Amino acid sequence: MTSKLVSPKQRQRKKPLTDSQIVVDEKTQLPQLVSRRVLEQRYVIPVVRIMPFYRNLMKGRLVGTRCKVCGATYFPPRGDCCKCGSSDMSVKKLSEKGELVSFTKIFVKPSSFSQFPDYMVGVARMEGDLKVLSWLRGVQPDRVKVGMKVAVKIQKRVEDGALEYYLEPAPS
Ligand SMILES: [Zn+2]
Repeated sequence: MTSKLVSPKQRQRKKPLTDSQIVVDEKTQLPQLVSRRVLEQRYVIPVVRIMPFYRNLMKGRLVGTRCKVCGATYFPPRGDCCKCGSSDMSVKKLSEKGELVSFTKIFVKPSSFSQFPDYMVGVARMEGDLKVLSWLRGVQPDRVKVGMKVAVKIQKRVEDGALEYYLEPAPS
């Protein structure tokens, strides 16, 4: 009896080919390629035009910008007015008090926040009408209500020393 010689390459070809990178998306049920490469990205953003924001943050104040030409106001601050195109901007101080207009709890976090427990974010309309989007602290999710009075707080984050602002229920 003679046995047919099969090269390792031929033996491999007999198995069906699979690719562990191709997965089915849970929501759409469509195939997706998941790259094996993990990309780490660090943003370097010029802030020279909005440095007053950071200088004020270091002093415990939150400011936006106001266009000197058309009066449009912005928070987060902008160096250019997207309504009239002017770059002539001034600082606009934000009220520390406002009203919550929306909120949600974050379970699936961006990778830069993956080390944090689940957290809430909220949008508040501050007195003077500028809106602030930030973390919402100091209240349980089942106690949060649209329309509740909130205040902006500024602190140094324990984890990395970065200055951050957040919303919390305002004392009544
Ligand atoms: Zn403008």
